[in-house]
Amino acid sequence: MADILSAVPLVENYTSVSTAVGVEQAWRYMNENYSRFQIATFGSGLVHFVSYILISLPSVLFQFIPQMQRFKIQHDKPVTGANQWECIKILLVNQFIIHIPFYLGAYFYCELVNLPFSYETMPAWYVTLGHCFACLVIEDTWHYFNHRLLHHKSIYKYIHKLHHTWQSPFGMVAEYAHPIETMLLGMGTMWGILLFGNHLILLWVWMWIRLIETIDVHSGYDIPLNPMHLFPFYGGAKFHDFHHMNFQGNYAPTFTWWDKIFGTDIQFKEYYKMKEEEAKKQK
Ligand SMILES: [Zn+2]
Ligand SMILES: [Zn+2]
Repeated sequence: MADILSAVPLVENYTSVSTAVGVEQAWRYMNENYSRFQIATFGSGLVHFVSYILISLPSVLFQFIPQMQRFKIQHDKPVTGANQWECIKILLVNQFIIHIPFYLGAYFYCELVNLPFSYETMPAWYVTLGHCFACLVIEDTWHYFNHRLLHHKSIYKYIHKLHHTWQSPFGMVAEYAHPIETMLLGMGTMWGILLFGNHLILLWVWMWIRLIETIDVHSGYDIPLNPMHLFPFYGGAKFHDFHHMNFQGNYAPTFTWWDKIFGTDIQFKEYYKMKEEEAKKQK
């Protein structure tokens, strides 16, 4: 009897234990079979590329699902296949101009600070998530002020106008930008790593969280029960979609506090207040 009872928690924990064992085995296999150069460059590139495709996929598929159209923020501007192809072309160019040099730089950084890669030195999951949250706050601040700079009338048309090609964005638009913009705003992604970098896992988990965030805010769909909204002050798709529609205001990518402090969310608030009043009149 005692044996049966003691086996119950073992059965309940089987899935999480086997997942953890799977991650450990995969991580050890990677370290035993590939060099640090291969892991930092090709490994990081693969994590980025596969994550970008997988995270973008839902918003690409939503356009073919009629039931999802009620969640589309700008109903009057559907996304076309031509739009998506145009976007993919620039993304592929960016892969070569920006991302390949970036991953080579990532390798030199790993060697310079002797960043640990091994499974034994991997920090606890809550430490990595805490560092990722701090990275998100730093990136949001860097992005807010530099995004405002990119909107300055003397430079807007040379750099940031390319990202604003899409007045009604879709997931893949997240990285559709001029190489100078990708480098400038991409620096915001790196500050946290330079401050907290303690293991390769932080680099990859942070990259993954940042991709989820930026693809979500560009998705064009305001989905109810989106778990990203569990974060207090998270702006989300509705907040950034307004920036693409209006070309002004809502400059922060993730949180709403900088726009609130500097009053750059006023037009956004007024627009939705007006829409609410119109909806009330129609009832
Ligand atoms: Zn902008
Ligand atoms: Zn955008």
